[in-house]
Formats: sequence, C-alpha cells, structure tokens
Amino acid sequence: MTNPPPNPILTRRQLLRTARSGALLALLPAIPAHADERIPSCHLQADYRPLQRFGQLAGSPAAVRLLRGFTLNQEPHVLTLDPETLTTAIHPLETVTMLDAAPEDHPQSPHARALARQLTPPHPLVNAGLRRAERPLAGFCLTIDLCPAPKPMDYRLFEGLMTHDLPSPVPVAIAVSGGWIRRHEKDFHWLRACHDDGKLSITWINHAHTHFYAPERPYAENFLLAKGSDPTCEVLALEWLLIRHGVTPPPFFRFPGLVSSPALLEHVSRLGLIAIGCDTILADGDRIRPGGIVLMHGNGNEPRGVELLLQRLKNPPTPQLVSLSEFF
Ligand SMILES: [Zn+2]
Repeated sequence: MTNPPPNPILTRRQLLRTARSGALLALLPAIPAHADERIPSCHLQADYRPLQRFGQLAGSPAAVRLLRGFTLNQEPHVLTLDPETLTTAIHPLETVTMLDAAPEDHPQSPHARALARQLTPPHPLVNAGLRRAERPLAGFCLTIDLCPAPKPMDYRLFEGLMTHDLPSPVPVAIAVSGGWIRRHEKDFHWLRACHDDGKLSITWINHAHTHFYAPERPYAENFLLAKGSDPTCEVLALEWLLIRHGVTPPPFFRFPGLVSSPALLEHVSRLGLIAIGCDTILADGDRIRPGGIVLMHGNGNEPRGVELLLQRLKNPPTPQLVSLSEFF
C-alpha cells in the first residue's frame, strides 16, 4: 500500500479509507486548538531529556530501558520502561545501575517488536501505528482522545462506563493533550481520582502538548507535520506536564489527527514510544471487533459515538474491554 498523496481536497474520511482496506470511516474533526496559522510555542523544562540507555533497578535482575532523565525535588531521576510489560515508572537515579549495552534478549521484547513493526512500511499519512492487537485477543481496547477543546468533558461517557455491568476497574486508554489539560484541570483531576479509586483503570497515551491543527491546511502540512512544529518538544513537554500532575508518562503516543510521516514515526520510535492508531469509529457505523482499537473523543466532540458505545456495551455479544497492554 502506498502513501496517499498530500491532496488538500481529500477529506480525513477519504484518507482513512485509503489508509486501510476496511470500512473505517471518518474521525470526527476535533475543534481546532488553534484555528489560525500560528504554531503555538512549546516550552520544555530544560532538564527533562531523552535517554538511550538500559539499567537495572535495585533488587531486580531484569533490565529496564531508561527513557528520560530529569530533576525532581532537587534529585536526579529517571523514567524507566519494562520492555516486557510496557510498564513505566519513575526512580531516583541512585537506585539504578547503568548497563553498558542492551540485554541480549531485548530484540524479542514486546517493546522492541512494537517499535520494529511501526518502522516497517507501509506508512500511511493517516492512521499509521498499531490498529489491532498483535496477537489473538477476544477483547477490544477503547481509546478516548482528549484533544484540545473548549467544551466540557463528556462525563456521560466515563460515568456510563462505570455504571454499566462491566468488570471493575473498567480498562480505558486515554490519549491526553496538553492543550486539553490546561483548560480542564478539574476534569483531569476527576479522571485521576477515578483511577486511584479503582473505578477506571486508565492507560494514558501521550497526545502531544499543543496538538496544533489548522482546519484549512492539507494533512501533509498540518498537525505535527506543520512547518515549525517541534515533535520532540510536543512529546517531552506533555510528559513533563503529566509528571507535574503525578502521572507517570506512558510509552504510548497517538499522533494528533492520526497524521504522521515515516520521519515522525522514526522520531517517536527513537523516543521509545509506540504509536497507537485505530480500526473502529462507532459513529461511522463500524462494528466492535475482537482485537480492535476503538477511537472516540471524550472532549465533548463526539456525542453520537458515546451514545453508540454505551448502547453496544449493554447488548452482548460485544467483546469485553481489555487493557491496551494486552495488545502486545
Ligand atoms: Zn486529537
């Protein structure tokens, strides 16, 4: 499959159809974070930086990948990733023993396999990255995007999930942007409390810091492909914002607009991040399939999709919700 041409006339619906052979229809366009042409500035805590190392934690023989280094409470810390479980954690640097090289079995780890897969063509302009589970799976993953939007968060979605007859905590993956957090601090706090209280089991997905979008531009010049965009800052500034809110940055990334390029895929791979696409948009009539990734917006922009999801969860045989980490 070849990349679709960067044609400004193509709608996202057409691009998604081109990007895969299934019946995936359009994403509902997010309300633009910045309707003008200016790329918003992305500021990064100077000390927060990518690492390309492996290490061992005190008391554990298993190697972890060291993704970031930074100062927290005046002490050096690292963000670590377990390549087998895809779990991230923050540790004081003094509790980590640096390794000189990657462990021998690293290329077989789920993390390394996922990065190798996303660097393998084809690389469609829209919806590159993981769309379906990498192994047979009976359940599906619900991913909820929180793109920048002035509307209230869709509480009906989250409260509906928690009041349905679903196993608790309810697994959801939430792709959160810095632009949304800045406008919705209370809602973000409420979601974290739902997780801490054991009502939701949230896997966070990095959805970029500014999530720039200009509705009049073709996709090939929009989102992170806009001239002047700083993908490293978009990733790292959102991670730092999460840390400041007590959330450990995840190893998952969803491209704003699902729009990317081979160079961007390489970029996020170098930062150790797994790109998450989707295969199901309920508002377009797609069925929920085992091993599928459903995408919907929880930022108030997709009431129809929310309604359909809550209806289908009531009506078997809709597959069970599972955590994103089970997809690898
Ligand atoms: Zn978005």
